[in-house]
Amino acid sequence: MQNKNKNKFHVNLSSLLIGNIGDIKKVIIKEVELLSNNETFNNIIANINFIRADKTIIAKGKIRANFKIICSRCSEETVQVISSNYEEEYFPYNYDIMGFHNHIEDYDYENEIDLQIQKLDKRNFVDLSSTFENSLYSAISIAPKCKEHCKGICINCLKNLNYEKCLCKTH
Ligand SMILES: [Zn+2]
Ligand SMILES: [Zn+2]
Repeated sequence: MQNKNKNKFHVNLSSLLIGNIGDIKKVIIKEVELLSNNETFNNIIANINFIRADKTIIAKGKIRANFKIICSRCSEETVQVISSNYEEEYFPYNYDIMGFHNHIEDYDYENEIDLQIQKLDKRNFVDLSSTFENSLYSAISIAPKCKEHCKGICINCLKNLNYEKCLCKTH
């Protein structure tokens, strides 16, 4: 994965870690592009509220992006807007910054299998690219349509029925 604007996905959460429970940091990330496998998400706009919880930071985000699809009915390529909401919890790299010097020992989070542990890096930055990637992928339809009532292609004469009529009796 090669993202030329990768650092735009990095947010510094130090101020929340040293702040108080309930503090909120609002972040808007705009006009970024994310390349993932062979897919490209363009014009990403994400609104995220990072909320300081007791020992973690909760992120509640809304994200939308432009995404090129091939219509499953008529095979035409079109750009769709996809959007998704997500919630994520981030653990600090080191609890010292939050004033919990012994916390790590009594919470065995390495063994929490069901919980997807997302850790901040040493400088207390979060990298949002994988979160964005996951939530955008979850918003992609398995059988996308160019429009709600796409008429598809006639299986007999192969005309695109959105543009032309045909006299076949196959549909
Ligand atoms: Zn279509
Ligand atoms: Zn036909």
